Amino acid sequence: MLICNIDGTIADNSHRRRELPDGGFDWDYFLRPDLISQDRVFPYVREVLNRLSARHPVILLSGREERFRSITRAWMAEQGLPLPVKLYLRADGDRRTSTEFKNDILSRIVEHAHEAISYADDNTEMDPVCAHYGIQLLHAPAVWEELFRFIHLL
Ligand SMILES: [Mg+2]
Repeated sequence: MLICNIDGTIADNSHRRRELPDGGFDWDYFLRPDLISQDRVFPYVREVLNRLSARHPVILLSGREERFRSITRAWMAEQGLPLPVKLYLRADGDRRTSTEFKNDILSRIVEHAHEAISYADDNTEMDPVCAHYGIQLLHAPAVWEELFRFIHLL
């Protein structure tokens, strides 16, 4: 089973990242739906996810809020990405950090999983979380090229 984060992992959101004049992060700009729709998919993601999803469940896990569910699904379809068997998003207004939220979801998946789990994320804060659950953490986006090369050997 592959569980996969979205922002910074499969979606290149660098064009939505900018600072406010006071040096803070401009969240309003980052979360603008019209900009989210313009995210590019990192190289090799499309090939790897389409190949993997034919044989293994692919689950998406993102700190994005539920209000972005439809835009996220539309973006995936538009980008030629496979529909995930499950898309976990943070409830609107959930004030936990995305790491806390992901930890919570991963603990539930691990509890019911009967197969090995790999998790792709760009956030190194997930290293100790994955180590705790015995989950293999794939460091995105660099891992996609490695997986692409491996898949083509099969
Ligand atoms: Mg991320």
